[in-house]
Amino acid sequence: MIRGGASATTEVPIGLTDLGRVRVLRALAENARLSRVEIASRTGLARATVASVVYDLINGGLVRESAAAGAASARAGRPPQILSLEPEAAFALGLDVAHDHVRAILTDVVGKIRWDRTEPMAVDDDPERTLAAAEDLIDTALRDSGVPRGKILGLGADFACPVDKDGHRLHAEGIMPGWVGIRPVDELVGRTGLPVRIINDANAGVLAERRYGAARGCDDVVYVRLSSGIGAGAICDGRMLLGHGAMAGELGHIIVEPRGKLCRCGNRGCLETVASPPAIAELLARSWGRPVGAADLAELLRSDDRGAMRAVEDAGEAIGRALAFVVMVLNPRLIVVGGDLAVAHEALFEPMHRAISRNTMTCHAESLRIVPSALGDNAGVRGAAALILERAPETLALAQGV
Ligand SMILES: [Zn+2]
Repeated sequence: MIRGGASATTEVPIGLTDLGRVRVLRALAENARLSRVEIASRTGLARATVASVVYDLINGGLVRESAAAGAASARAGRPPQILSLEPEAAFALGLDVAHDHVRAILTDVVGKIRWDRTEPMAVDDDPERTLAAAEDLIDTALRDSGVPRGKILGLGADFACPVDKDGHRLHAEGIMPGWVGIRPVDELVGRTGLPVRIINDANAGVLAERRYGAARGCDDVVYVRLSSGIGAGAICDGRMLLGHGAMAGELGHIIVEPRGKLCRCGNRGCLETVASPPAIAELLARSWGRPVGAADLAELLRSDDRGAMRAVEDAGEAIGRALAFVVMVLNPRLIVVGGDLAVAHEALFEPMHRAISRNTMTCHAESLRIVPSALGDNAGVRGAAALILERAPETLALAQGV
C-alpha cells in the first residue's frame, strides 16, 4: 500500500531521511523531464545525493530514465539521461460534484486521465443518490482500469459550493440545499475506504489550470468560473488563497447593482443576479416573452443573435467591474476565464477587459492578461484529482522509505 496513515485522512510527518526523495520527486512532478544536473540545481541537493536518491527511485519503480532527445548524435561518452516520474507509479481519483451531474476520473501520477465517466443527475437535493452514484463510479473505474487499490493515492472531490477550511464541511445553504449538514469527506471515506480531500470547484479550477492548463508556470493567477454560480479561485505568490474560513473568491456575490434583484445569498444586486447564464437567459426571456434556458445561450451566441450578444456584453462589463476590485487587491498576472459563459469568447472578453482597464490603475492593468480556460469542463475534476497528486511526492517517498 502506498498510503501512509492509520486513518484515511491522517497526515503523516516526513522524516529527514525521506526529504531527499521528496525533493527529487517534487522537482519531477513540477517539471516533467529533468537531468540529474537539473535536479541538483532545482533541489539544492548535492549531485552525489541526487545520484543516490535517483538510483533508489528508479529501482523502486517511481522514476524512469530515458535518453535525451538528440542524444543519438552525441559525439562521445554516455548520452545525457533524462528522468521523469513513472506515470503508473501511482494513481488518483477525481470526483466532480456539480449541480446536474457527478463525474469521476482516474488519472495517473502525472495527471493524465485514464478513465472518465459522467452520471447526469439532480445533485442539489439528493446527497444520498449522488454519493451512491459516486461510489458506483469509483468501483467501476477501479474494475475497468485494473489499477490495484493499493496504487490509488486517494480521492479528491470538487463541489459547486464553498468548502470549509477544515476540508470536511460544505457551506451548502441556498446552493445545494439537500447537502446542509452532510459531511462529504466522512461519507466518501466510509464508502470508498480511500483518503479523501474536498475543494470548491473554482479553487479546483485554479489548481488545474496552473498545473495543466492556461496558467502553467504562473504564480499569480485568478481563475473565474462563470456558470450558474460565479466564483473565483486565486493563487498568489504560488500559494492558493483561501482566507480565514476558506471562503475567499466569492466573486458572484460582489454587489454590482445596489438596487438590483434579490440574490439567493440574501443580498441584492450580486454579480450572479446579472451576469450568470441563468440571469442572462431570464433577461432575454422577459424581453422576448418566451422561455429561454441558460443552455440555449451557446446556440444564440453562435448564431450572432443581437439580443443575446448585447446581454452577454453587458454581463462582461459587470464581471469586469467586479474583477477590477480583485485586480486592485491581488495584482494577478493572469485571469483565466472558465465555466459555461466562457463559450461567448470575444463578446464577453472584450467588455470585461475594457471594464478592468477603466476601473484599475494603469500599472495593474498593463501587465495583466485575460485568457480563456485551456481545460474547459475538465478543470474542476482535474483540479480535484490534483489535490491528491500534489501530495504524491511525500506519500510516495514515505512509502518507499518504509
Ligand atoms: Zn449574492
